[in-house]
Amino acid sequence: DSSYYFTTLDTIQARCSLPSRFAHKGTFGHALIVGGSYGKIGATHLSAKAALRTGCGMVSIYSAACANPILQTNFPEAMLQTDSELNHITSFPKTIDSYAAIGVGMGMGQHKDTKQTFFQFLRELGASSKRPKLVFDADALNLLAQHPESLSDLPPGSILTPHPKELQRLLGSWTDDWEKLEKTRAFAQQHQVVVLIKGANTAVVLPDGTIHFNTTGNWGMATAGSGDVLAGIITSLLAQGFSSKDAALTGVYLHGLAADLAVRTIHRKSLMASDIIDGISQAWHVVL
Ligand code: AMP
Ligand code: MG
Repeated sequence: DSSYYFTTLDTIQARCSLPSRFAHKGTFGHALIVGGSYGKIGATHLSAKAALRTGCGMVSIYSAACANPILQTNFPEAMLQTDSELNHITSFPKTIDSYAAIGVGMGMGQHKDTKQTFFQFLRELGASSKRPKLVFDADALNLLAQHPESLSDLPPGSILTPHPKELQRLLGSWTDDWEKLEKTRAFAQQHQVVVLIKGANTAVVLPDGTIHFNTTGNWGMATAGSGDVLAGIITSLLAQGFSSKDAALTGVYLHGLAADLAVRTIHRKSLMASDIIDGISQAWHVVL
């Protein structure tokens, strides 16, 4: 069936090139990471750091006010805007048009005020003039699953990065892997979004109905924060001007390759999400 593909190094190298030597940080795009709540600020840190290692020019984080001392102390490269509320988000940044791409949901929590502002943000996206490209992960997906009617507000080309539980909340359950693939394909086509089926050989399901299996990665990646790193990598590629298809394929491949290179020195048992971030640079050395 011509609707199935494998993503290999050739696939990725065809999509990546070194920039002009006259490049400046504006060339590489500004990514925004929205998420975090009390006890889960680290998710935004991992995403934003992965985004910078992937090469976007600037990263901003929008998070709960309690993120301020944590991130401003430990993460000088990131710019930070905080909510008025201490422990969770109750609004979104007003000027989203200044970001090329936005990743939303990591560690965000599901407080009722967060939920309300998330759906308002979704409704207002259509009115945004520049239309930043979007990645939805974690609690953003959980909130979408609670209100399926809101799926029609997703901008076409958005990328959804569910792990198996989150995918099940979105699609309902499946009896076998074929049904999972077919349900995900129908969902991606209906809503015109890119959906990942994360796990060993993550599948990237495109709105045109094609399915692309990744060929990098290892079980060491089954560790806390691994998905936050992936969401940051993909958001970064979108900010750098990759199309949603190219960002999803390249991001998933780089994430797996970064982990494969990291486990040459760090045992798979010991691999942590921040080790995957450290591997991104080695992965770029292989690709470019
Ligand atoms: P999350 O559950 O959101 O933290 O995402 C987990 C990440 O780790 C995803 O990118 C998965 O594809 C990856 N992952 C989990 N288990 C495996 C595995 N057995 N082999 C390869 N990648 C995995
Ligand atoms: Mg996750």
